[in-house]
Parts: sequence; structure tokens; C-alpha cells
Amino acid sequence: MLELEEALARILATVPAPVSETVSLSAAHGRISTARIAAPIDLPIFDNSAMDGYAVRAANVAPARADAPVRLRLRGRVAAGESFTGEMADDTCIRVFTGSPLPSGADAVVMQEDTRVEAERSEDILVMEAVKPWENVRLRGEDIKQGSVLAKVGDQLTAGRISLLAASGLAQIKAGRQPVIGLLATGSELREPGEALGPGKIYESNRIGLSALLRHAGADSRIFPLVPDTAKDVREALELAFKQCDAVVTSGGVSVGEMDFIKSAFEAVGGKLEFWRVAVKPGRPFVFGRYGEKLLFGLPGNPVSALVTFLLLVRPALRRWQGAADVSLPAHSGVLAEALANPGPRRHFIRVKVDADGKVFSAGVQASHVLSSLAEANGLVDVPPGTTLMAGTTVRVLRWGD
Ligand code: AMP
Ligand code: MG
Repeated sequence: MLELEEALARILATVPAPVSETVSLSAAHGRISTARIAAPIDLPIFDNSAMDGYAVRAANVAPARADAPVRLRLRGRVAAGESFTGEMADDTCIRVFTGSPLPSGADAVVMQEDTRVEAERSEDILVMEAVKPWENVRLRGEDIKQGSVLAKVGDQLTAGRISLLAASGLAQIKAGRQPVIGLLATGSELREPGEALGPGKIYESNRIGLSALLRHAGADSRIFPLVPDTAKDVREALELAFKQCDAVVTSGGVSVGEMDFIKSAFEAVGGKLEFWRVAVKPGRPFVFGRYGEKLLFGLPGNPVSALVTFLLLVRPALRRWQGAADVSLPAHSGVLAEALANPGPRRHFIRVKVDADGKVFSAGVQASHVLSSLAEANGLVDVPPGTTLMAGTTVRVLRWGD
């Protein structure tokens, strides 16, 4: 049985290199940059006002005080989107607004609140407060210098980063292709939600949860029909799914019972098993295999085992496949509000609920068929075998569950 880290290393070593494709920026959120993107322009692209006010020469208003205002002649107005032609002269000012290009000849902006206009002399502005040179001015290139790096290879294209790319004028970027993942659920007991249940039957819940995690991981999922527990059905389903997808994620049928057909059916259709079983709870009977260039992830059927092994072993593979530098789950430290016990012989990834202060609670009963605690959880804590982590212990919380 493999340790988790060894299993993950073997999977990541097998994942194909990312394939770059051109993606419009409007579809780039959540994708992974496969290119180093250099800034085509400075940001801001011109010196501009940070305030509604008056563009001035700082030296002209140096003596200004509330009880001794400096009088400047108003020479014009530049709204955001306009530009000033010519040169602003000494002892004059120009009306500007937030984002207005700074008129040539000006070197500061006096905010409107520090000025006064006399009703009878509206062509003059009284400045009641001095400004330092470049005060209230956003300088060209102070945010981004042309040629500097907007995104590195392997960076996630977050909302913030795509905003930066848009501000830099880019409409398209290069991103790693998102693999198409087939989802198969095996089990003769399974029925589709919404249908009638017969005796001994249960509703299938893994494909919907896994497809949500797949979408979040940036992969494209194809949901295949339910697969009964016969060798022939499992073989046919695997062949069809591998024909249409880059990888197949199955649930169920990976244990040792005579109704567990995934491993034998996969080999029968020409797949090569790389390993079976990982020393974790939940999810020990996890299967990994190769089908030519394509990959099989065989998850256990218990809903908690399926989702947790997906997060620990499949998600990193899908992220790497798209070119991500960082493939780990988001994580942070938290403090246990109650003890977490793992009396068993394997590491237990315990479902937890972490609050906004970083206090960590058990999400409920931890058996691998228990969905109520899955629904409550927003994190996992890795508790070593034969260990109880006491209340007050600082732990690392792996985040998931939005
Ligand atoms: P298996 O891994 O096939 O032995 O299944 C383990 C347990 O998970 C059994 O109780 C199954 O009925 C249940 N199970 C398997 N697949 C699913 C599924 N897709 N949705 C809900 N429960 C499942
Ligand atoms: Mg089964």
C-alpha cells in the first residue's frame, strides 16, 4: 500500500504536459497561464489626477493657507477621457476630475475641498492649502512598467489578474487546455435522483459532487450513464468513456468483493494498473491506471471516500495537466476547538468546519458513508494514525467545499 505522497508523486509524474491554447480574456477566469505575459503598456498609461480638483504648479500654491489663499486663473477643464492641448502657464489652474490626464505644465492637483470660488469672480480659484509636487497625481507606470511581468507560466488567472490583463489591453491569453474527464458511477444499486427507488436501491450522488469539484478544478466533465455491476457493463462503459475523454474517473467497484469489476475490466480493455490502495482514510482502495496516454482514477464508492480521494489525488493531477505551478488545495492554519481522534492505523483526513476566526470543529460523524458531515464541512485535517489532537492544537486546514 502506497503512502499518500508517493501515490501523488506517481500520478503527477504520469500527467501529460499542458497543451497551450488561445483563450479570450472573458473566458480566462480560473485558467492557468502557459506563457510569461509581459506588460505591453505602462499603467497608468499617462499621469492623471487622483482627485476631483484643480491641476496646478505646486510652487505657485506653496504659500497657500486658509486665511491667506492663493488666487489662480482658471484656464480650462479636462474631463476623464479628454486631453489638454498646450501648456498650463504659471499662476493658472485647470479643472480636473479623477482620471483626467494631468495637463502639461501642471505637477500637482489641489483637491476641490481645499479651494473656494468667489461668486463675483468665478474665473478665479482660491487655493487654501499648499500641495507638494506630484501630490494627488497618479504617475505613469507607477503601477506597472511596460515590459514587466503580468503573469508567469503556471499562474492561476484570478479575477484580480484578469482585471490587470484587461487594463493592459490584452484581449487573449495562452492557457493550458482543460482536460475532458468522464465520470462513471458503478453499482447495480444506484438510481438517478428524481427516479423511483425499488427495493435495495439508493440514489446515486457521486457524479454530481465530483462534477462540481471537477468544474472547480478547471476540468470539463462528461457524465456517463449509471453502470451495473457486471464485467461486461463495466468494460463497455470504460471503453466508451476512454474513447470520448482524456481521463476517466470512476466510483465504486474497487474493493475486494466479487462484484468489484473496475480493476479487472480496466485490464481487460487494455489498461495498465499503476497502483491500487493508498494508506489513507477515507479512500484506501483508490486505483490509478494508464490507458495509453489517458488516465484512470478509480475512486471508492462511499461518497466521502470518493470526494476526499478526488481532492487529495485527482484534483492535483488535473491542475498540473492544465499547467498549474501550485497544485495543492488552499490551506491555512487553524486552532482545534475540540479534540480530533484517529484511533486507526491510517492517516485520517477528518472533515472539519472552520469558522472565520480559524477555530476548527469536527463537521460531524466521520464514517465514510456519512453525507451529513460532508455537507457541513469546509475543510479537512490530516490526523496521523493512532493520534488524538487535543483542543487548542494548531492544525493545517485543507480548504474545500464552496
Ligand atoms: P463500493 O465502493 O462499490 O463497494 O461502494 C461502497 C458503498 O458506496 C456502497 O454502500 C455503495 O452502495 C455506495 N456507493 C457506491 N457508489 C455510489 C454512488 N455513486 N453514489 C452513492 N453511493 C454509492
Ligand atoms: Mg459497488
